[in-house]
Amino acid sequence: MTNTAKADVVIIGGGIIGAAIARELSKYSVDVVLLEKGPDVAMGTSKANSGILHAGFDAKPGTLKAVTNVRGNQLYRKLHKDLGLDIKYTGSLVVAKTAEDMETLKDLLVRGNENNVPGLEILDKETVLKMEPNLAQDVAGALWAPTGGVICPFGATIAFTENAVRNGVRLQTECLVEKIAVEDGKVIGVETSQGFIAAKYVINAAGVHADDISRTAGDNSFSIRPRRGEYVLFDKAVAKLVNTVIFPTPSKVSKGILVSPTAHGNLFVGPNAQDIDDKEDVATTPDGLQEIISGARRVVPNLPLNASITQFSGLRAAADGGDFIIKQSDSVIGLIHAAGIQSPGLTAAPAIAEIVGNILREQGMTLNEKADFNPVNPPKSKFHALTNEERAQLIAQNPLYGRVICRCESVTEGEIVDAIKAPCGAKTVDGVKRRTRAGMGRCQGGFCGPRVTAILARELDMPVTAVRKDTNQSYLFFDKIPASCEVKSNG
Ligand SMILES: Cc1cc2nc3c(=O)[nH]c(=O)nc-3n(C[C@H](O)[C@H](O)[C@H](O)COP(=O)(O)OP(=O)(O)OC[C@H]3O[C@@H](n4cnc5c(N)ncnc54)[C@H](O)[C@@H]3O)c2cc1C
Repeated sequence: MTNTAKADVVIIGGGIIGAAIARELSKYSVDVVLLEKGPDVAMGTSKANSGILHAGFDAKPGTLKAVTNVRGNQLYRKLHKDLGLDIKYTGSLVVAKTAEDMETLKDLLVRGNENNVPGLEILDKETVLKMEPNLAQDVAGALWAPTGGVICPFGATIAFTENAVRNGVRLQTECLVEKIAVEDGKVIGVETSQGFIAAKYVINAAGVHADDISRTAGDNSFSIRPRRGEYVLFDKAVAKLVNTVIFPTPSKVSKGILVSPTAHGNLFVGPNAQDIDDKEDVATTPDGLQEIISGARRVVPNLPLNASITQFSGLRAAADGGDFIIKQSDSVIGLIHAAGIQSPGLTAAPAIAEIVGNILREQGMTLNEKADFNPVNPPKSKFHALTNEERAQLIAQNPLYGRVICRCESVTEGEIVDAIKAPCGAKTVDGVKRRTRAGMGRCQGGFCGPRVTAILARELDMPVTAVRKDTNQSYLFFDKIPASCEVKSNG
């Protein structure tokens, strides 16, 4: 059995919610272990969503969604700097086209004011078209939310986890929680694919699987249906098509298809909303892609489809009641749910983490602040963002920064090695991609994929045939790597 056989708190799920909770608890003198069934954090919904830092005018006042959205948006202001997050405060516009849409904007404004969203304003047609000249010319006006923005969702999950690990949280990947063990109505630990871990408190942040996990403890109080949302991502060359996050006027069931810049300077359109049965089905479909493209073109007619570089989809964890479930289980002492975390869960994550901390206190846990808690992640070298002088200095310190591995995104070997060696470091090709952007560009890893594989094999001291793209059996090579893709020793 490993040294994680005992902990004060076990967190199940390395998505943005589990990661934010781990980071929150790392402020205190408690022994926390974060368990993730995949080989990396941010492999579920937290890697495939709109990445919008929502302002908070959408959720019904008084709901957990509303309260945590607005608080989370505020908390990210400091986290942005401390954790080195990729965030752009672009603001957002909800665009109206008809008189009926304009009435809906007024309702959203009232709702947003009730939720204490700062700076909301309804703009007239001329102002909107001045801000966004590529919008459909028949817009009637828009709701402007200056605190809206865009954030890199997987980068944030990795950054929360890295900071938690730096502050003493133990991360165990490839650790599937099979059962929450309960005795006399109280949690006693978890049975996992890596053995039993004793703990008095278990936090269920298992995303679309949170209901399955809950049932293993005998708590059947909620169920979760996956609701898939598909996207098309566009090349950076067309990112200037819009400057802010553009929502259509929402319908009763959906926020509608957005057109938005990403935190890294691409553009995306999506998502749609499809109720499905399979909690692992993240395929994209021809009908779904057609639906989002048509939806996007109603707002931005000149969408250049030939500039699309990839498609993807993510699964909303739709719980019965619609609101987030953040509470101590009604039937099992020590089991705390952070479940049903649909949109705006990414924005709300730091506020959800605060609530979970408070629930632990209410349940009798003593949370003493650590004197040596360090809220800051060390800055990462980002070669593409440096001046030539800064690049030369970096290369003089370490020649690996002089070898560009990903040409589309200008990512160097030095940055890839840093990403592998960091706490919560990359172990897969997609793990490197999520940390450095190697493979995120126009060629989608066609050029750098084999080279990244070779660097992973060298740094992790494993054969290239053991390096995976992402999950279980996703090996990339059956034999040796082609000579043209070999990388030098970094000695
Ligand atoms: C289409 C779409 C668009 C969205 N857009 C936005 C947006 O713009 N802004 C916003 O704020 N929010 C948005 N969201 C919501 C946001 O993405 C989610 O709220 C958030 O990612 C949920 O994080 P999570 O940690 O709960 O789940 P996940 O990220 O799914 O994490 C759960 C983790 O638990 C692990 N796990 C599951 N079972 C087990 C087990 N038995 N043992 C060990 N590990 C396990 C999984 O592998 C996974 O890594 C969107 C969601 C979707 C789907």
